[in-house]
Amino acid sequence: MNIELINTGSELMLGRVLNTHQQWICAQFADLGYVVTRQIAVPDTGPAIQEALRDSLTRADLVVTTGGLGPTSDDLTREFIAQMFGKKLFVDQSALAHIEQFFAQRKRIAPEKTKVQALVPEGAIVLQNAFGTAPGLVMQLDSNPFRSGHKALIVMLPGPPRELRPMFRDQVAPLLGKYFPRESEFVCRTLKSTGLGESYVEEKLEVPLEALTKAGLELGYCARVGEVDVRIVTRGPGAVDLANKAEAEIRERLGSYIFGTGDDSLEKIIVQLLTDRKETVSFAESCTGGHIANRITNVSGASAIFMAGFVTYSNEAKQRLLGVNPTTLETCGAVSELTAREMAQGCRERNQTDYAIAVTGIAGPTGGSEDKPVGTVFIALASAKGTFAEHHVNRYERETFKFVVSQQALDLLRRKILATKQIAT
Ligand code: ATP
Ligand code: MG
Repeated sequence: MNIELINTGSELMLGRVLNTHQQWICAQFADLGYVVTRQIAVPDTGPAIQEALRDSLTRADLVVTTGGLGPTSDDLTREFIAQMFGKKLFVDQSALAHIEQFFAQRKRIAPEKTKVQALVPEGAIVLQNAFGTAPGLVMQLDSNPFRSGHKALIVMLPGPPRELRPMFRDQVAPLLGKYFPRESEFVCRTLKSTGLGESYVEEKLEVPLEALTKAGLELGYCARVGEVDVRIVTRGPGAVDLANKAEAEIRERLGSYIFGTGDDSLEKIIVQLLTDRKETVSFAESCTGGHIANRITNVSGASAIFMAGFVTYSNEAKQRLLGVNPTTLETCGAVSELTAREMAQGCRERNQTDYAIAVTGIAGPTGGSEDKPVGTVFIALASAKGTFAEHHVNRYERETFKFVVSQQALDLLRRKILATKQIAT
């Protein structure tokens, strides 16, 4: 089966927008057991879109386009694709009602222009847009004019990622199974780990999984900053059984380095753990400038577990807001284990939370010294069981440094919560 992806948008050609659809959609297909065979990005002019589609259809069974379904003059995808196949556009009443409701809910009047988004090529399937106004469209070609003797499916998706992603997951993925049933069983799972480098993860798994790999297990590693994903893929009869065996072996070998599966994030796991246990947390952040609090508050339901976050960047703030002892700051310095401990304890007492995390470090590029080089960070966690501290050296540019520190801090918290749970039960 040939799948081709056409990303439209002049902003992509100008480098103003990163083509994240390319990566995201290819990954979704791969997780569903399909492989995108070709991908192209084109400016959003009618001729460029038509030429790319014509070319793709000489090979493809399925073509996915992104972008250009909106109401403005540069949104040409719908019109030019319909024109290529001589399909008339007509107003889809449910799409029109959706657009009107979308504006009514926001107490705004729907501009006349937005109504072009309710135009649908005759015979097309309409994909509802739960997060915007332009519906997605699916056109079925019973005979592909550019590849005789073949059918083809054209799926048009809107450009904004927050609209495209749920539409793909909820509406396109189920259609794939219907139009292009896979020949055999297919299982794809992702286990997410943190705290180990990619080669170390691979080293731990290579030998124990050798027999399963020979039996058909496909193993993939994806390293990102502060995380390594292990992807298990199995196909054919017995795929589920083989995937289960592989997962059990990986969990055994990596143990608590695995924090989740699929799209999990550390912040999501922590909100879940603390909510289940009816426990709370607060943060005292110096070098991360609020990044940890930002990550936690990205999770819906965080208000049940997150009490407060202090961004105590100056020594004065560390003393005034957290009660850090001035002598500690003078003798050990703001970036020191003792300061981190006092920050965490002060934060916990002031907020009356079960846990408090504190971070203090040197993001760089300036400010390092011989015994405290750039990248030095101290992380402390205070709980009813006392205060625990860790020391890392993270050599990255500032923004990555902040992310990595937040990852280490959240992982420390996750481990402590889990350890406490084991003792309590
Ligand atoms: P709209 O109704 O917002 O105009 P649209 O379906 O017409 O939606 P486009 O106008 O092509 O889509 O793109 C809208 C926005 O979506 C772009 O400005 C960009 O921010 C984002 N976008 C479009 N294509 C991509 C892509 N390939 N990768 C990431 N973001 C994209
Ligand atoms: Mg647009």
